[in-house]
Amino acid sequence: MSLPFSLVPGTRHTLPEQLVDILANPGFVTYFSDHMAAATWTAESGWQDSRIENYHVLDLTPGSAVLHYGQEIFEGLKVYRHADGSTWFFRPEMNGRRLIRSAERLDLPVLPEEDFLTSVHALATIDEAWVPSGNEMSYYMRPFMFADQEFLGVHSASRVTYAVIGGPAAPYIADGMTPVDIWVTTRYSRSGDGGTGAAKCGGNYASSLAAQREGEEHGCSQVLFTDAASHEWMEELGGMNFFAVTSDGKLVTPPTSGTILDGITRDSILTLAPSLGFTPEVRPISLSELFAGIVEGDIAEAFACGTAAVVTPIGRLVHAATGQLETIPLSSPLGDVTRAIRTRLVDIQWGRADDQYGWMHKVGERP
Ligand SMILES: *Cc1c(COP(=O)(O)O)cnc(C)c1O
Repeated sequence: MSLPFSLVPGTRHTLPEQLVDILANPGFVTYFSDHMAAATWTAESGWQDSRIENYHVLDLTPGSAVLHYGQEIFEGLKVYRHADGSTWFFRPEMNGRRLIRSAERLDLPVLPEEDFLTSVHALATIDEAWVPSGNEMSYYMRPFMFADQEFLGVHSASRVTYAVIGGPAAPYIADGMTPVDIWVTTRYSRSGDGGTGAAKCGGNYASSLAAQREGEEHGCSQVLFTDAASHEWMEELGGMNFFAVTSDGKLVTPPTSGTILDGITRDSILTLAPSLGFTPEVRPISLSELFAGIVEGDIAEAFACGTAAVVTPIGRLVHAATGQLETIPLSSPLGDVTRAIRTRLVDIQWGRADDQYGWMHKVGERP
């Protein structure tokens, strides 16, 4: 039986004049919209009590299992306002399917794809006025699920909460077009064989923060992780996938099996690359190939990608172990290939380019 996510009567709305101020300068989700979607799961009764209600403080007891063992997963997707005022999702079914895979890995209950879609459409519909129309602004949505059973035994929870919150978002990196410096760590790993690297879970982010701080202390804004076993193969950033662009127009990214998160932006770039004249190539890339390739001119550009920041050009790579610092001699401030990919993707998302792949789904219109 599918979940209705129906509106609880008597919910509030922010005054229109207040909303105008918020949407003019939203930051990256520093305000949450009026409502949230929520549902509860219990081992006895399954999913129930799906609803859209006021955004509110959760009742969580100090003994709640998520606070102790981190049994939690999440998703991230955006709602885009097109020039005609209509609002759209980008491939939301992919987020629904990934939430299922993450749930299976963290031993949380599966929320059917159909119910996931109902929840995000319902929230985007009721809080439609919160979708900004400013340049590259969007409404960022955060579905998540966690163990909220009051229980300190190490055991999968028999009571789980699913919720969706969201808020208006300016571009994630203030100036999305400025190349970022990357700390390539060979000391920390974000995931290992058989671990949770392919699941979108808070724990992966928690374990990346010490490396992130170390990178920041060395002037880098992001960390690129290598494989846990040999620290010789490129994996991904803390929250973005990695691409290298060869001088002969190949877009190279490592395979996602097991330790790397299967990004929807990554998949979309691999799909649209040929239409722009680039060849996608999914294969392992070693640290030495990358650093030597930059020196010898075989690597022309590199970029990171994900829903929040879309496509972020990489300006410099710093090898944490050797201190080797290589500047990627980008052909233009953003890199011609990186810019072409980014432009095509954002043009599809904001309805300025033909959606030949059927990726856009109008808010409120279910298949
Ligand atoms: C979310 C995420 C990404 C990007 O995935 P998208 O679906 O493109 O947003 C990449 N790596 C990690 C670790 C992530 O959590």
